Amino acid sequence: MIVAGIDIGSRAAKAVVMNDGNIVSSTICDTGPESVKTSQMTMGRVLEGTGLALDDMEYVVATGYGRVLVPFAKENISEISCHARGITWYFPEVRTILDMGGQDCKAINCDAEGRVNNFIMNDKCAGGTGRFLEMIAEVLNIPLEKIGEVALRSKQAIPFNTICAVFAKSEAIAYLRKGVGKEDILAGLNDAIATRCLNLLKRVSIQKEFTITGGIAKNKGMVAQLREKVGLDPFLCEDPQIIGALGAALFARDRCQGKTVAVEAKVQYGYSDGTGNYFITIDTGRCDGCGECVPACPHGIIEVAADEGGQLKTRVKEEARKKLALLCPGHRECVGKLGVNCHRACTRDAISHTW
Ligand code: SF4
Ligand code: SF4
Repeated sequence: MIVAGIDIGSRAAKAVVMNDGNIVSSTICDTGPESVKTSQMTMGRVLEGTGLALDDMEYVVATGYGRVLVPFAKENISEISCHARGITWYFPEVRTILDMGGQDCKAINCDAEGRVNNFIMNDKCAGGTGRFLEMIAEVLNIPLEKIGEVALRSKQAIPFNTICAVFAKSEAIAYLRKGVGKEDILAGLNDAIATRCLNLLKRVSIQKEFTITGGIAKNKGMVAQLREKVGLDPFLCEDPQIIGALGAALFARDRCQGKTVAVEAKVQYGYSDGTGNYFITIDTGRCDGCGECVPACPHGIIEVAADEGGQLKTRVKEEARKKLALLCPGHRECVGKLGVNCHRACTRDAISHTW
């Protein structure tokens, strides 16, 4: 059974081809401006030298932010589900996943079959993401692939007040002008990023079977800082950047075998930063998609949409996710000032807030 998974991420596109549960080929390419062209180029690349053609694929699943724009995929599945499925192929014991991608960072709690129990995504700003590290590498004039090793040489990490992409860049430039070593600047930034990641992980519960996936997991300095901050030695696979595509390929295989796809149970939207914690949690196990909460939200930030299994569930609208604290005052405030809110409307107790 020959299947493929393709992950169109914000910075890199990855693909994996599997035959009877074994990886035949994998590739990583830069994401171009057009997702359709990127997906075709990535698929062409992963098939090179395999003697296989796209027509030989029995099923293709797409994931990543550009997943809906892969013309040859039969299905698309969220990167959260795919990362959990992919990593448990390598390490079935893993329960806590930190996925550090190009433009966001996610903490995921999963079971032995790679089913997501709970996850949280921090996509509020670029701080601590692949894009952020690229920017810092440019400022410090160090090749991106070297910044991990350089940080490891630090003897005295510089404390950073923020990892907001804009302010951290200015702070890094100011330290550079004062003659602070690049290794100490990088180590300081890694420390600040690791603190933010630790806060995310705590929200999904940290279990000792812990792993890091995504492109940043290849950065040795970042991994060392996370090891120290979290206090656990992470399981690291050969190429943590292809895990989303691998999970997509495994789902493709499941589909060929007639298995259904497990969808996320609890979904948390929000972030934790210097100003506080802002989270809306939807328990998709309880939500029956009745839609009562949608008109009850005076700010129009929630909607009901079909999930990967085709079930209707509530979610926070994509365009509202990065400005939750501005749009949603939290349920207490919402009731106090406006008299209506999603909690009152939901009789199934499927929505909760941490404000
Ligand atoms: S009211 Fe509750 S059960 Fe109904 S869609 Fe909203 S969250 Fe789901
Ligand atoms: S607390 Fe109010 S603003 Fe926030 S999601 Fe619920 S109804 Fe909407």
